[in-house]
Order: sequence, then C-alpha cells, then structure tokens
Amino acid sequence: MTADLSGKELAAGIRAEVAAAAAELAAAGTPPRLAVVVATADESSAWYVRSIARAAEKTGIACSIVDLGESATPDRIRAELAALSADPAVHGIILQTPLPGDAVFEELAAAIDPAKDVDGANPLSLGRLAAGLPAFAPATAEAVLAVLDHHGIPLSGAHAVVVGRSTVVGKPAALLLLQRNATVTVCHRNTKELAAVCRAADVLVAAVGRPNLITAEYVAEDAFVIDVGTNPTPDGGLVGDVDAGSVTGFAAGLTPVPGGVGPVTTALLLRHTVASARG
Ligand code: NAP
Repeated sequence: MTADLSGKELAAGIRAEVAAAAAELAAAGTPPRLAVVVATADESSAWYVRSIARAAEKTGIACSIVDLGESATPDRIRAELAALSADPAVHGIILQTPLPGDAVFEELAAAIDPAKDVDGANPLSLGRLAAGLPAFAPATAEAVLAVLDHHGIPLSGAHAVVVGRSTVVGKPAALLLLQRNATVTVCHRNTKELAAVCRAADVLVAAVGRPNLITAEYVAEDAFVIDVGTNPTPDGGLVGDVDAGSVTGFAAGLTPVPGGVGPVTTALLLRHTVASARG
C-alpha cells in the first residue's frame, strides 16, 4: 500500500494562514507585494508565473509581473532587481528562469535584497542556510521538508537520498534534511550505480527533470518518495521524475505530480512574502 503524500491540504492551510496575515498587514498600512522578474518567452515559465500571481491575489498579496523581454541584458535584469530591492512597497522578489543566454542566475540573484529574497535565490541566502543562520530557503526545497513533516515521516537518523544537486532544489533540500538529522546522500549525473544508491534510501527525493527516471528498481519497499520533477508532456500535461505506475503499490509513500510539492512551493513563496512584509 503506497500512501498518497498529497500537498494540497497542506498548501490550502498555508494559504489560509497567509490570507489572514495579508489582511492584517493591509489593515496596518503595509499591503504585501510580490514582484516576479521575467526575461523569457518560455510558455511553461509564463504558466508558472501566472499561477503564482493568481495564488498571490487570492490570498490578498499584490503581485507585479515585471516582464523585461527575452532580449534583456544581465545589466538590465540586475538593475531591475536592485530597484525592486530598494522599493519599500515591494516585500518579495522572485527572479524567474530561464534567463537569456549569457545571464548567470546566481550572479543576478545576488542583486536581490536577502530580506526580500523569498525564493532563497541570492547565494548569500544559501550560504546562511548552510551555516544554520536565519534565511529564506528556496521554496521548493522547503516544500519537500514541509510535505514530509505534514505526513509525519520521521527524518532523524533516516537515510535521505537526493537525486539532483541544483542550487534551487537539490543542494538546499540536502542542507535542510541534514539540519533535521537525516543522513544525506546527494546524487548527480556522475553517480555510479544510481539505482542501488537510491534503493538504500528511507526517504528518496527526485529533483532531476527526467520523466520517469525513478522506477521501482530505484526504490526500497518501505521508502517514502518525494517527486519534485515537473516535466511537461506533449499533450499539455505534467509528469514527475518518478514512474508512478511502477512505484505505486511498492513504496511506502509517493507525492503526486501535480498536487504534491508544487502547490506547497507556491504557498511557501506567499508565506515568505508576508514574513518579509512583517519585517
Ligand atoms: P536542474 O538545474 O536541471 O538540475 C538537475 C539535476 O539533476 C542536476 O544536478 C543533474 O546532475 C541531475 N541529473 C540530471 N540527469 C540525471 C541523471 N540521469 N541521473 C542523475 N542525476 C541527474 O533542475 P532543477 O532546477 O533542480 O529542477 C529539477 C526538477 O524539479 C525539474 O523537473 C523542475 O521542473 C522541477 N522543479 C519543480 C519545482 C516545484 O515547485 N515542484 C520547482 C523547481 C523545480 P548534474 O549536476 O551532474 O548535471
């Protein structure tokens, strides 16, 4: 029996808490505002940004989408991030990917004021996270932990295997799991015997971007599997990195895609924005 590790109920609870906080802030004269800086014509990115904006507006957070166009230079993007950082009416800033060819995400994100860095994109935020200092964690990585906690999955002493080492998901998820006293293994393209390493996991986090990479061969029978992958399908759908058909009925638990980590990620971005507005 594989438990459905849905993120929907958790996300709804966080959104309700955010809506109450946003109303209080607005009544006190500080209406919370999120700004998303976009420099791409990528359709799936546009879909994601619209979904953040919708969720923000529903919880009473104003959301400005600052579209600089796909030919924006790194200097132009950096200047916009600096201007938003200096704007007292803006409390949260997200730099959306992908970026134009020669732009380096981490370099540009360094222009986001850490106090408004609601998606933990500034390398300073990641450094503070690694050092155990207060910082906004990347929302997706935090969502992985939030889903595990919501479903009561023990982490202390558990062996957690994270497949993927990106700055936005894999590395911060590994740091957060380590903070919770899991024993953490991080895998990537050069990992040997990936299936065997994954099979040793009590908690397996797939953050790769390869549809159906993780099959039953990669999963121990009592393992909890968190599927972070969001891979668009040709028919407009979305699949994760885990082959749900092969793992369901086998693993102890699996997050659905969509409806697992994704809604919690969005809700946490909003929670971070009201936290920033509270100061
Ligand atoms: P990324 O920057 O492309 O990183 C992918 C990672 O996977 C890299 O570390 C890469 O290894 C590793 N990898 C790729 N192929 C592999 C293989 N065959 N075996 C082992 N490792 C492999 O991607 P990302 O930004 O972290 O995103 C990962 C997935 O999460 C994507 O599907 C993305 O859409 C999704 N995502 C979801 C949310 C959400 O809210 N649900 C948010 C963000 C991202 P190397 O380092 O060796 O190249």
